[in-house]
Amino acid sequence: MRTRKIIRIGVDFDGVVAYNPFRIVRAPIAWFKREVLGIKKISFMKPSQWWKRSLLAIYHKGSILPANGVSTLISLAQDKKYDFFLITARYREYEKDLDNWLDKYKLKPVFSEIKTNIHNEQPHLFKEKLINELALDYFIEDNLDIAQYLAERSKAKILWIKNIFDEHVNFGEKYAYLKEALEKIVDENSH
Ligand SMILES: [Mg+2]
Repeated sequence: MRTRKIIRIGVDFDGVVAYNPFRIVRAPIAWFKREVLGIKKISFMKPSQWWKRSLLAIYHKGSILPANGVSTLISLAQDKKYDFFLITARYREYEKDLDNWLDKYKLKPVFSEIKTNIHNEQPHLFKEKLINELALDYFIEDNLDIAQYLAERSKAKILWIKNIFDEHVNFGEKYAYLKEALEKIVDENSH
C-alpha cells in the first residue's frame, strides 16, 4: 500500500485566519519605513511604552472577524491529508484574546498544534524557527517583510496574503485571501 505524505501547513493568525480592519493602518507605515527611509532590516516594536501597548491592544482587539477562507480551512482540516498549525507571534499578553477568539469560532480542533510567542521573540525569527521545527511544507503569512524574510530562508513554500498598499510588490506566491492560498495548496497536491 502506498502511503501518502501528509501536507503540513502553517498559518499566521492576525491578517490570515483573522481579518483585521486595523491591518490596513500598519501597511503604509511598513511601506514608509522600507521605501522612504530605506530601512530594510526587519524589526518590530517591543511594547514598552503604555501608549504603544494601548495601540497594540486596540489593534489586536480589531482582529475580530474570521477571514475569507476559514470555512475552507475547517473543511480541509477534516481531510487526513492535511495537518494545520497555527503560528502567531503575538506578544504574550494578547494570548488570552486569541484563546477566546479561537473558542468563539470553534477553531481549536482545526489545528494539530497552536504555537504562541510566549518568550516575546522577534516575529520573523520566531516563525523561522517554528517552520523548521515543525518541518512545514507551506506557511501562509500576511506581513510582507516577514514573508520575504521567510521565503529567502526557509524550505517551506511561503504564501503571502497581500493588501491594497503592497499589491504591486513582486512576490512569487501572492493571494488576496486565505481561501485563495488554500485552494492553491489543494491544487498543487491534487494529482
Ligand atoms: Mg499577520
